[in-house]
Amino acid sequence: TTSSWHKDAVAGAVHPITHTPLANGGYVRTCIDVSRVKRAELDMKRLNTNFIAMLDNATDFIYFKDADSRILFCNQAMARITGHSDWRQMIGKHDFEIFPPETARIYNEEEKPVFEKGCPVAGKINPYYDESGAKGWVETYKWPVFADDGTTVNGIFGISRDVTERVLLEKALARSNAELEQFAYVVSHDLRQPLRMVSSYCTLLKRDMGEQMSEQAGEFMDFIVDGARRMNEMMVSLLEYSRVGRGGEPMTLIDSRAMAEEALRFLAPLIQDHKAHIGLDGDWPMVWASANEMTRLFQNLIGNALKYQEPETVPEIALHCRRHSGEWLFDVSDNGIGIEQSQIGRLFKVFQRLHPADCYEGSGIGLAVCRKIVERHGGHIWVTSAGLGQGSSFSFTLPFTDGQAPPGL
Ligand code: ADP
Repeated sequence: TTSSWHKDAVAGAVHPITHTPLANGGYVRTCIDVSRVKRAELDMKRLNTNFIAMLDNATDFIYFKDADSRILFCNQAMARITGHSDWRQMIGKHDFEIFPPETARIYNEEEKPVFEKGCPVAGKINPYYDESGAKGWVETYKWPVFADDGTTVNGIFGISRDVTERVLLEKALARSNAELEQFAYVVSHDLRQPLRMVSSYCTLLKRDMGEQMSEQAGEFMDFIVDGARRMNEMMVSLLEYSRVGRGGEPMTLIDSRAMAEEALRFLAPLIQDHKAHIGLDGDWPMVWASANEMTRLFQNLIGNALKYQEPETVPEIALHCRRHSGEWLFDVSDNGIGIEQSQIGRLFKVFQRLHPADCYEGSGIGLAVCRKIVERHGGHIWVTSAGLGQGSSFSFTLPFTDGQAPPGL
């Protein structure tokens, strides 16, 4: 008898079926090739070994749960922080049996929408306690596991990563920013009172001394008063800057186009004075934002586009919005005096101006306020200009929102 095997056959993977003796003393043996079954077995074994290696070694917390939120299996890191020497001891347990009630409640609550609506949990920062009882933070992702019908959620797959260091740094940064803002507020608010005294007593002194004061001394007095006036303006600007985000106005879903139009209404007299042409087109979304701050942002950018123009030029300003790389991209472009490439890095910093106050009025805070507003809303801002006399285009992004608050806001 001869046997011929296909080239992918697994060695020895035959299963005898019949053995029929022949009259001449020989026999006929029939076998079936079970290579495919054998290979599937080997693949399963390898997958299982790899899977166990992952569960044993991964440092993130990985877990699968059934429809009752009980653990089907999890990894060793997760077993360790809950005081189990082997992850197999966790099978069948519920969060309330393994975590302190305070954190178990949080984890359990967030799973309800996963089971009810199939909505994943994405990047949620949760507290947790490690094996020594020390409090840390994890960034949690949980996805629904669907039954064969493709719609019923019959389990959850989750990964939580320790982000304690990052969260502590963010908290420290937020604290230090809050202190700095408080400092800027106090400086700008409280120092205006003594400054007013300097200015008004100099004015009174000059008036009081009248003819007795030399012409030069009178001029010096005027310098003092003028300096105090400018300092007061700077403090008012600083106050405005430090107030961004302090208004207490909650973020809501608002129409970005309506915010731009509101800014145009505020600027209407200036637009008329300059006989400016304003265009507004593109795809304007609903965004998750503070309405006042968005209006202020457009007002500052459009105000600058009107202001930084050669005297005889009719301002042409284009407002545009479109979706780009998963974000909303807004542009405010003008045909104004343009910006030298080397100066671009300075513009968004507090009190940075490229022009002296006698050419173009201003305090140098407008773009810093814009940056603060945009960053607070999870976006970034920049400017492009082909150079002096070539106009400028200020662009900023806002996170894409699908009728929901972006994570982290
Ligand atoms: P301010 O207008 O009060 O000076 P900003 O912070 O709004 O303060 O602007 C900072 C500087 O950026 C301005 O002094 C000006 O030099 C430059 N700048 C802003 N907008 C434009 C623009 N549209 N075109 C040219 N330069 C601009």
